[in-house]
Amino acid sequence: MYGEVVATERLTPQLVRVVLGGPGLEEFVLGEDADQYVNCFFLPEAAPYPVPFDDEAVRELPREQRPYPRRITVRAWDAERRELTLDIAAHGDVGYAGRWAGRAQVGDRLQFRGPAGGYRPHEDADAYLLVGDESALPAIATCAEAVPAGRPVVAVVEVEDAAGEVELTSPGALEVHWVHRAGRHDGLDDLLAEAVAALPRPTGVVSAFVHGEAAETRAVRRVLLREGIVAQERLSCSPYWRRGMDDEAWRAVKAAWVREVAAEPLD
Ligand SMILES: Cc1cc2nc3c(=O)[nH]c(=O)nc-3n(C[C@H](O)[C@H](O)[C@H](O)COP(=O)(O)OP(=O)(O)OC[C@H]3O[C@@H](n4cnc5c(N)ncnc54)[C@H](O)[C@@H]3O)c2cc1C
Repeated sequence: MYGEVVATERLTPQLVRVVLGGPGLEEFVLGEDADQYVNCFFLPEAAPYPVPFDDEAVRELPREQRPYPRRITVRAWDAERRELTLDIAAHGDVGYAGRWAGRAQVGDRLQFRGPAGGYRPHEDADAYLLVGDESALPAIATCAEAVPAGRPVVAVVEVEDAAGEVELTSPGALEVHWVHRAGRHDGLDDLLAEAVAALPRPTGVVSAFVHGEAAETRAVRRVLLREGIVAQERLSCSPYWRRGMDDEAWRAVKAAWVREVAAEPLD
């Protein structure tokens, strides 16, 4: 599948909204999970083929011509207009996804596979906790929109500074805590964990969604499980990216990291 850019919007200095439309989305079907993502193929400048391309055939090309796969959350799907909205972090002049988003123009095309997902706010929870950085902000937004009406939802979101904040809405009773990283040159791995540890303890059964930078999500997971704030079966926690590694380097070691985190003693 592929989409054609029909609109772009700079939501914040670090986050670009790209709306895709066109005939390449005819077969797109959104599933039930709240955190659905598509696996997008970003093309290097040397790519000698246009979108759409045969994604099996391009695997045979030399590395410098092959597309770079990046997972991006479906921020919204408008089934009537058949338009797909993605919010992509533009983090400096690096990264195939970030740079593409920062420069996207109406008419540009993006090919992808999916969607797939893994979390839906548990119906039986008394409260919801949503934690992450800009990479998880689109999924935090869709999860906040998917909780049952009236129930407490706390979102803890790390952004660069106040200009990085966006409006979040929810049928639940939503409280958002913004964590600013600007001016912090150390302790970045613990920013979210410290903010989560400082929250009043939620009562009852908690369903939690914790995604974003690997070391940060690991630190939050520790707090949530060690303090017994969330039971493991109601915690969705995964490392979306790793500081200091691009996605190729990260995917090469991610499975080992996830195993190491899962084996971590929690008492
Ligand atoms: C299921 C899933 C859903 C995701 N949804 C989204 C989404 O909706 N929006 C989104 O923006 N990202 C999302 N991500 C994260 C995204 O796939 C990664 O951040 C990816 O590495 C970005 O690719 P890139 O080409 O821009 O940078 P890369 O080429 O992978 O990396 C280049 C450099 O930038 C750094 N970097 C990567 N991401 C960030 C970041 N967010 N902030 C600061 N530095 C960074 C890397 O560590 C590296 O040093 C999702 C990831 C997963 C697994």
